[in-house]
Amino acid sequence: MLSPDGGQTVDILIENGRIVSIGPALSNDALYPEFDATGCWVGPGFVDIHTHLREPGHEYKEDIKSGSQAAALGGYTAVVAMPNTMPAIDSGHIARLVAARGREVGLIEVQPAGAVTLGRQGNELAHLDELWEAGSRIFTDDGDPVADSGLMRQALEYIGDLGGVVSQHCEDKGLSRGGHMHEGSVSSLLGIRGIPPASEDIVVARDIALSEMTDRPVHFQHLSSARSVELIADARLRGVPVTAEVTPHHLMFTDKEIEAGTDPAFKMHPPLRTESDRQGLIEGLRHGVIDVVATDHAPHVTADKEVPFEEAANGVIGLETAAAVVNTVLQPDAAEFFSWMSTGPAGIARMANHGRYPTHGELANLVVFDPNARWIPGTYASKSTNSPYTGLTLTGKVRLTVSMGRTTSSEGQLT
Ligand SMILES: [Zn+2]
Repeated sequence: MLSPDGGQTVDILIENGRIVSIGPALSNDALYPEFDATGCWVGPGFVDIHTHLREPGHEYKEDIKSGSQAAALGGYTAVVAMPNTMPAIDSGHIARLVAARGREVGLIEVQPAGAVTLGRQGNELAHLDELWEAGSRIFTDDGDPVADSGLMRQALEYIGDLGGVVSQHCEDKGLSRGGHMHEGSVSSLLGIRGIPPASEDIVVARDIALSEMTDRPVHFQHLSSARSVELIADARLRGVPVTAEVTPHHLMFTDKEIEAGTDPAFKMHPPLRTESDRQGLIEGLRHGVIDVVATDHAPHVTADKEVPFEEAANGVIGLETAAAVVNTVLQPDAAEFFSWMSTGPAGIARMANHGRYPTHGELANLVVFDPNARWIPGTYASKSTNSPYTGLTLTGKVRLTVSMGRTTSSEGQLT
């Protein structure tokens, strides 16, 4: 088990969902069913601060129930649901509906992210007080950037004063317009219009300036460019309150995957970039410039994906494979792993009940992860199957998830 003091080998006794004892070799007189976690890591349940649950409005791709099931299988006990739904989560009313539906399903905590602007239109601020009251802590127009610098400044001041954080989808649309993949030698070879890394870097640089000017936090979503990592490293050295996330797919793949067969499973926004970008992201995560891994779980049905590359929708699913991909690519130690997957994200989302190490007397909210188990993803609880990992051998498997005192998945099955 992982604790703030480091790893230790212990037995954990859970009674009525509560941890009643943690210690070496507790005796079990067969009063309780036993789960043998020998060789596994036990730590706080994972928290994903970037999930598209698609409800309300696009339930044919995913809904809060199927997304919660995917999350439970992936070791998650909480997710932040992105607000690019129909209607957008831009008022307290919609945010409360999403959170309540999450509680009704009861597998994970669903924290609704609030839109920064009304309807995600980028023109005027959303009902931020209401959203805060309804439980939103992360505010974003994800899918689109907050493009107007003056409006972004206002949003930072308002949301920062509430105690929340603006989470930015970094894209200069003047540079990305019409693009389908990273702009570079592979896009030239394929004759597909590209998106240069500067599309991301420009917004990262601008928002660092705004964060520094207002002294309010900014979180950067799904980084793809090594230059963005350098900009953030420099800002953090100066004490600018910025944080950042990276997705499993940007850690594992590059645009070479598209050269090999223009498979829309590798089409996402921001796009997969070069090997030097991928190495920059890996180093950024290892050195704490990037704080957390977030899935950007983006379900799309087959009809939106099994079409020519340029017509395909952007995004991949990720909840059920994220931990395994991170472990496969980075081979982290347990402390790094849980800081990227659990404690770091819970901190950014201001989630008091998640990202806490298993502690005597508390409701069990934990995951058992075997860092050595090998498996091949093939079927998913998600309604959509747009995964780039299907058929690949991954190392590391979630064996048990206990969410708010209740076992939600065990050995790859929902319970
Ligand atoms: Zn985005």
